[in-house]
Amino acid sequence: MVLRGACLASAKAYATDDKSSQNVGAPTLRMPARETEAIILKTFPLGEADRLVSFLGRNSGRMRGVAAGARRLKNRYGSTLELLAHVQIWYIERETRDLVRIQQADLLDSLNKAQSDYSLSTGLAVVSEVSEQVLPEHEVNEAMFRLILLTAREVERRGSTALPVAYFAFWTVRLAGWLPRFDVCAGCGNAFGKGIAFQDAFHPGLYDAAHRRPGMKPVSVEARELAEVFAKQGLDHLDEGLVALPGLKELREAGLNWIEHHTERKMHTRALLETEI
Ligand SMILES: [Zn+2]
Repeated sequence: MVLRGACLASAKAYATDDKSSQNVGAPTLRMPARETEAIILKTFPLGEADRLVSFLGRNSGRMRGVAAGARRLKNRYGSTLELLAHVQIWYIERETRDLVRIQQADLLDSLNKAQSDYSLSTGLAVVSEVSEQVLPEHEVNEAMFRLILLTAREVERRGSTALPVAYFAFWTVRLAGWLPRFDVCAGCGNAFGKGIAFQDAFHPGLYDAAHRRPGMKPVSVEARELAEVFAKQGLDHLDEGLVALPGLKELREAGLNWIEHHTERKMHTRALLETEI
């Protein structure tokens, strides 16, 4: 049994251990299979036949695991390991807890249209990258789970990423506790009123014209009002007509900038969005 000597093995050593793949599905009394509803955040090819899978489990938090044989033409995972797929997943924890072993995954929701369309899958990729950055491993986060699920479903239903990605960015910032005051300047405390506010990825707040730094982008009163709508209403109840508002992109950019600011990391997928709205 591989488990016996594996406690000191690094994730990489496990990943290249061919013997371990052959034991997938083997019964073990010490580590019974766990089951959770999950969202697939990302997958990477691993060796010739396997996939490394990052997923957000509703009951487990973000985890990484190995889906043995997932790269083979005929495999038992089907389309369950696609970007942001909503699945029921069974896995076995290993002693190191670095990587779990994925036994089975069943698809709960289809995102066929979104996953197969380039521009829609760009939106899913942004959601995936942000989620990977802001969610610590092994921490259950029901609110983020529901937000990611809702965002992916709405990209699929609307056939558009504009509203879902802006909503996702806003709510990610809010749930993380990073949302600044939207009514007063972070530099002097003066109210914006109907005036334009400004933001960038180097500062956590909104600033008025007097405290605007070079390179900061506007957040108009319309964008700030849209934030209030986002705060009060579910994405699935928002009118697609909001896509026409210039404030939508301003709000999305502010949200993504604040995520970059607080995670101290520039997003790779963000540049792909620039042409979308
Ligand atoms: Zn000011």
